[in-house]
Amino acid sequence: MKLNQGYRHLQNSYFFSSIVKKTEDYRAQDPKADIIRLGVGDVSIPLCPAVVHAMQQAVQEMGRKGTFHGYGPEQGYDFLRSAIRGYYRRYGVRLEMDEIFVSDGANSDLGNILDLFDRDNTVLIPNPVYPVYEDTNIMAGRKILYMHASEQNGFLPLPDKSIQADIIYLCSPGNPTGAVYSRAQLEKWVDYANDMGAIIIFDAAYESFIATPDLPHSIFEIRGAKTCAIEICSLSKTAGFTGTRCGYTVVPRRLVREGLELRRMWLRRQTTKFNGVSYIVQRGAEAVFSPEGIEQTRSAIAYYRENGRIIKNALEELGIWHVGGEHSPYVWLKCPSGMGSWAYFEYLLHTCHIVSTPGAGFGSSGEGYLRLSSFAGRDDTVRAMERFIQKGIPGQSAGQ
Ligand SMILES: *Cc1c(COP(=O)(O)O)cnc(C)c1O
Repeated sequence: MKLNQGYRHLQNSYFFSSIVKKTEDYRAQDPKADIIRLGVGDVSIPLCPAVVHAMQQAVQEMGRKGTFHGYGPEQGYDFLRSAIRGYYRRYGVRLEMDEIFVSDGANSDLGNILDLFDRDNTVLIPNPVYPVYEDTNIMAGRKILYMHASEQNGFLPLPDKSIQADIIYLCSPGNPTGAVYSRAQLEKWVDYANDMGAIIIFDAAYESFIATPDLPHSIFEIRGAKTCAIEICSLSKTAGFTGTRCGYTVVPRRLVREGLELRRMWLRRQTTKFNGVSYIVQRGAEAVFSPEGIEQTRSAIAYYRENGRIIKNALEELGIWHVGGEHSPYVWLKCPSGMGSWAYFEYLLHTCHIVSTPGAGFGSSGEGYLRLSSFAGRDDTVRAMERFIQKGIPGQSAGQ
């Protein structure tokens, strides 16, 4: 018996449990402190009425002979895939129905898609980034190269032709930084991947937060992407589905390597190892793309975006360098006075009673930075930023 040794090399779970532990320790020390959580990457607004109504109807159908549904199509019901296809058309992207795969969320597919690739591939991952890309590849024992993201490149690393990579992860709008690739920047990535024969795994979990028409929502808005990219998307942040679970992955027909169509491989993988998402959830997901659903989810996103604006205003007032917050629920800031991520995390917890996320948890290049989230309620966000403006910079308080 031999275990997967990759699990010995994982580190991140330790990091996130430290945030919880430090917060609990502080609460024990100062039980009356009104602690506000701006660290979480989870939504707070409930499912919108269009989704709730659709799911209630679907439950009724499931309880009646004649409208009951057993196993569904492995790729997802036509009604949902057709709604997703219609959504992509808004951004000028034409997809075939068989290129769309409904999933139970982005994380599952981010891990499962690696089934298609040999262990002997080199993976290129931005640093800092969403930890799942790194962890899933460590579990698989794959070689990982990191691309340094920094203030100099706006936390949007671009391809370096001297680096040979096979699988490239891009997340735009980015978690944790909130930075968004422009069309011209994504063109560089698509050209690089096509030249190298590499495959881009594009995580579009935050596409619905994009606020201006000039920024791409999908990698497939870029010419040439259909021969080098897989897009993974989720309704978690778009429509508050973190607890309901639904997403979708696009594998284009033209994505072919070694004579094999990756779309066919993925279909084969899914029909063997996945039996699809529940009918009830797929009806709820379909409602997200209805005119009412789009309007209702957009208003939830506008609420988060306003929180983001409040956070950014506070940072501007204090002259703290930051990105994100506009097309993303995250604001990524540089810790003042040259403090490290953990030191500033503790300072904010003890002084302002704000829980944040230390940037170092997303990779070594995140050291010295911090992530604030706009997913909290308005009142909490406003109160937190009032305290932040007063005492956010060590050794300095407002009015001095
Ligand atoms: C939240 C998040 C996901 C996870 O999505 P699920 O559909 O809930 O699994 C994927 N990618 C990024 C970058 C995220 O922040």
